[in-house]
Formats: sequence, structure tokens, C-alpha cells
Amino acid sequence: MPADRSLVSPDAAEVIALARDFARDELAPRAAEAEEHEQFPRELVRRLGELGFLGISYPEELGGGGQPFETYLQALEELAGAWASVALAVSVHAITCFPLANFGTVEQQRRWLPDMLGGQLLGGYCLSEPHAGSDPAALRTTARRDGGDYVITGTKAWVTHGGHADYYTLFARTSDDGSRGISCFLVPADADGLHVHPPERKMGLTGSTTATIDCDEVRVGADRLIGDEGKGLSIALAALDSGRLGIAAIAVGVAQAALDHAVAYAKTRETFGKPIIEHQGLGFLLADMAAAVLPARATTLEAARRRDRGLPYAREASIAKLVATDAAMQVTTDAVQVLGGAGYTRDFPVERLMREAKVMQIFEGTNQIQRLVIARHLAAE
Ligand SMILES: Cc1cc2nc3c(=O)[nH]c(=O)nc-3n(C[C@H](O)[C@H](O)[C@H](O)COP(=O)(O)OP(=O)(O)OC[C@H]3O[C@@H](n4cnc5c(N)ncnc54)[C@H](O)[C@@H]3O)c2cc1C
Repeated sequence: MPADRSLVSPDAAEVIALARDFARDELAPRAAEAEEHEQFPRELVRRLGELGFLGISYPEELGGGGQPFETYLQALEELAGAWASVALAVSVHAITCFPLANFGTVEQQRRWLPDMLGGQLLGGYCLSEPHAGSDPAALRTTARRDGGDYVITGTKAWVTHGGHADYYTLFARTSDDGSRGISCFLVPADADGLHVHPPERKMGLTGSTTATIDCDEVRVGADRLIGDEGKGLSIALAALDSGRLGIAAIAVGVAQAALDHAVAYAKTRETFGKPIIEHQGLGFLLADMAAAVLPARATTLEAARRRDRGLPYAREASIAKLVATDAAMQVTTDAVQVLGGAGYTRDFPVERLMREAKVMQIFEGTNQIQRLVIARHLAAE
């Protein structure tokens, strides 16, 4: 059952309708098999780029779609309900464009941004390292200045699109000055010395490739430094504020899909002579699921509206990520319960949705880290 939406404009209604049709016709029929075989659907992501979804919330003058973030997130939610790995591809790609679109020079933007926002090039976001996930200021990869170049050496972990991306938005240390010693670079995937490990073997989101990348003296021109030297961590965290809203929207899509499957099943499955939805104990479980999805969406869209109005939204983005991903975990777990034994099999999508929900509490800042961010904002107010 499609989510009932109140949208900001006729344009937004068109975007959502396009996302919904693409999700139904192109994603839903392919998701289960591709996830089973751990295949990343690069071609479908390219087509989403052609339809404008990869740069949808970026300004038109930069080559984006000029849509409010609120509209982008609702489109993402539609995609996620059909196939979370594809929605994740859109969301991760969007944050790889963020540093260039917001901190790059006009010349850098002219050179790379059109192909990035148009989806001809796919990006990966390299912030985490094996010993630095929750604490990115501890990252050790170095970028040493050498004449007109930087030489990058180190290991980046958990890179979504690792091995499929055409470029990496990569954060490396240009000085020992703690959180002020990190800088942002745009690194071509085919650079000499860049080596991608075999993909991680994950519990879920198996259609999305996640890999470690070694940089062994990778040489890039100084024109690939994005923003000022030393500003990389604040650029990375600003990108993550937007990214967290993307993850929140994906979590809402996953939760809505689980609820829809559970309700449909509960209307047809009968025990004790009537559909299980008519047993109060189960009806209340479904009611609690519906009562978790709606506030998750509302919290996410409230943060997006603040972003669209130019207001600070970091605290609200963390709250949205926390609320929406916890809701997705609860709702997908309950959906498996509603389907009984069938829910535990791969014949129905709810077990996959449950596996997908779990990682959303972990990446782009675990939910413990979201609480840390929220508490710091409260302390500073
Ligand atoms: C599928 C997947 C895709 C990913 N994609 C990307 C990507 O594209 N780019 C990228 O850069 N990274 C990516 N990541 C990395 C992800 O962001 C990190 O895994 C995450 O930030 C957690 O870091 P960690 O795994 O090192 O856990 P750790 O930092 O080691 O944390 C372990 C546990 O300790 C808790 N913890 C840590 N510090 C605190 C604290 N101060 N207070 C309370 N609890 C704390 C954490 O919440 C967690 O429960 C991805 C991860 C996964 C699983």
C-alpha cells in the first residue's frame, strides 16, 4: 500500500510518482535474486542517474534537479521499500558529491560535478578506517604534499561501492594537528597504487558492495584537494548530516514495506476460523508497527524541512536517524513475527528487510554516536 503523502508541489508529486513506478517495475522484481547472489545493480543505478535521481536535491545551476531535500528523501523512501541496496547507492553517491558541490572551486565543480550529479560517474565515500569508525578524527591515512601533487598512503575501510565506483571522496591526514589536520580529496578509482580488497561478506544489503581500499603512494594533483587543507573533518561531518537523513529515509521505506507485507499477510492468513488481523493480540502488534512508521517519517521530514529552510539541522538529523532506524529494526522484527514460520523463510521479503534494518543502526554513525551528537547539542544550548 503506497504511503499517503502530503507533498510540497506538483513537481514533488511527479518525482515521487516516478520513483514509485521505478521501484515497482524495475527494482521490486529483481531485488530478491540479486541480493541472494550478491550482485550490485550498477546498470539500474546508472538509469536512476539518467532519470535525475542521483543529483535530485542539488541546485540546478550545478547540474542537479533543484528539488527540496524533503522531496528527495520521500523518493528515496519509495526506492528503499522495493530495494534498500539501490536506495543506499543513491544516498551514498549523494554524499560523495556534497564536498565538491559545497566546498569546491567553480573550476573544480565545472570539471567534475555534471558527470557526478548526472550519474555517469559513481562515487564512494572513504572516511572510515579499520581502527577509526565512530571516531573519524583518529584516521591515519596520510596525504603528503609533493610538488604539485599529494601522495596518499593508508587503508580505508567499509567503502560502499568499493570496486564499482569511478571516484572516491577520500579523507586523509595532511598534518598531525588532530581533527584540524584532515583534508578532503577526489581520487580517481583507476589511480596507480589504489587496491580494492574482496567485498565484505555481510548479513544483509548484499546487493551493495562494501570493501576495504588500500592506498599505496597514490598520487593525485593538488587540484583534487576539495576545500581548504585541514578542513576535511568538518566537511565530512557536514556531508554526514545530510547522509544521516538519507539513511533515516531508507529506514522509513524499509519499515513501511515490512508493515505493508505484514498487513497483507494478516488479512489472508486464518487461524481459529478468522484472519489473524482480527485477533486482538496480533492487531495490536500491527497497530504498534504503524504507530512507529509514521513518527519515523515525520521526524525525518521535519529535519529535511529545516535543511530546506536553511536552518541548522544536525541535531534533528541525528534524532531522525536514531528514531527511524530503531523503528525499522522493531517493525521488521515484528513483521517476521506476524508471518510466523513463513516470515523466517526466504520465500517472503520480511526476513531480508529485517537483515537490512540492522545495519542502518550502525553505519553513518552508530545510534550510540547519534545519542552522543544529540547530547552534545543539548549541553551546548
Ligand atoms: C555495510 C556498511 C557500509 C558502510 N559504508 C561506509 C562508507 O561508504 N564509507 C565510510 O566511510 N564508512 C562506511 N561504513 C562504516 C561505518 O560508518 C562504521 O562501521 C560505523 O561508523 C561504526 O564504526 P566501527 O564499525 O569502527 O565501530 P566502532 O567505532 O568500533 O564501535 C563499536 C561499538 O562501540 C560503540 N561506541 C563507539 N564509541 C562510543 C562512544 N563514544 N560511546 C558509546 N558507544 C560507543 C559503537 O556504537 C559500536 O556499538 C559502513 C559500514 C557498514 C557496516
